[in-house]
Amino acid sequence: MRVVAYSVRKYEESVLEEANREAGHDIEMLEASLNETTAALAADAPAVALFSLDDANAQVIRTLAEGGTRLLALRSAGFNHVDLEAAAEAGITVARVPAYSPYAVAEHAVALILTLNRKTHRAITRTREQNFSLDGLMGFDLHGKTVGVIGTGKIGRVFCRIMLGFGCRVLAFDIVQSDEAKKMGVEYVNLDRVYTESDIISLNCPLNPKTHHLINDDAIGKMKRGVMLINTSRGGVIDTKAAIRGLKSRHIGSMGLDVYEEEGDIFFRDLSEQVIQDDVFARLSTFPNVVITAHQAFFTKEAITNIADTTIENISAFDRGGAEAIASDNIVRAEEHVAKA
Ligand code: NAD
Repeated sequence: MRVVAYSVRKYEESVLEEANREAGHDIEMLEASLNETTAALAADAPAVALFSLDDANAQVIRTLAEGGTRLLALRSAGFNHVDLEAAAEAGITVARVPAYSPYAVAEHAVALILTLNRKTHRAITRTREQNFSLDGLMGFDLHGKTVGVIGTGKIGRVFCRIMLGFGCRVLAFDIVQSDEAKKMGVEYVNLDRVYTESDIISLNCPLNPKTHHLINDDAIGKMKRGVMLINTSRGGVIDTKAAIRGLKSRHIGSMGLDVYEEEGDIFFRDLSEQVIQDDVFARLSTFPNVVITAHQAFFTKEAITNIADTTIENISAFDRGGAEAIASDNIVRAEEHVAKA
């Protein structure tokens, strides 16, 4: 089957080729992201493979459908970059990789916590400059602290287990409670209790209309003074301007971000020779107690291999027998997700 894959970076090329070795699909790998201008490049490709950077809005989907696309194979778990209603209207099937490595993302959230807490990002620069002073580097024991987790799905549960291993008390909020989480010792509480009792809050829920700007001035106001906020979910879950106000007033003690609401214009490219035009992001980068990684939480060898393998499986299944042949967990149905949101 002819496949056009957008936003393919160097690191992904050989992994996709390897995953496709037996299936033998005719994959055209483009570095360009999918948008209104580039959608026409997929003309005559029944399958288009997307990454979370790509923008499959209604207009893009219409162009793809006119060009003969019938499958959007997402190389991600999240699908907030796809207009599901437009895809359903156009008769385009949307498949994703629901789980590729919850460990990758959960472990990265922990890396952000340890970095912010023990200030290793600052210590590394200091010792390189032969500044061996400890002033300003004091952290706290994680043992005995309260960690609040919003979203205890696949990633959230792995994260809970790790934090319980550190000897933390773990409070959680989710619209669906997990027995597995309860069994491991997670206590489900309402959102207000997550905000008021947690020393560290980790966001592990999807971005949808209910979670958009969930962390706003009001939520931050309820949090403990000095709270550490970690976001490895999607940028839009935090109102960034409110977070900046929280950091300036010191209500937020530190913040670790792997995602940013306007990351599409910034992340996944080398802008080191350019001037950042996004003033909100530029302000965020100035705080010594903020660590930003550029959406790399998923980026482990295991995860990239699983993403490529499942994407090819989804394409092969569709090629064999259409949407019904794709594993049902991998299909993203507008009626389920648009209605839920
Ligand atoms: P999942 O579907 O297994 O879990 C999501 C959980 O969030 C579910 O338990 C769901 O009930 C819960 N939830 C939904 N709405 C909620 C709400 N309003 N309040 C609280 N909880 C709510 O997904 P997952 O695999 O654990 O991934 C979680 C999110 O992590 C994804 O949606 C994606 O946005 C993000 N993610 C980020 C990266 C990265 O590299 N940074 C990689 C993969 C996934």
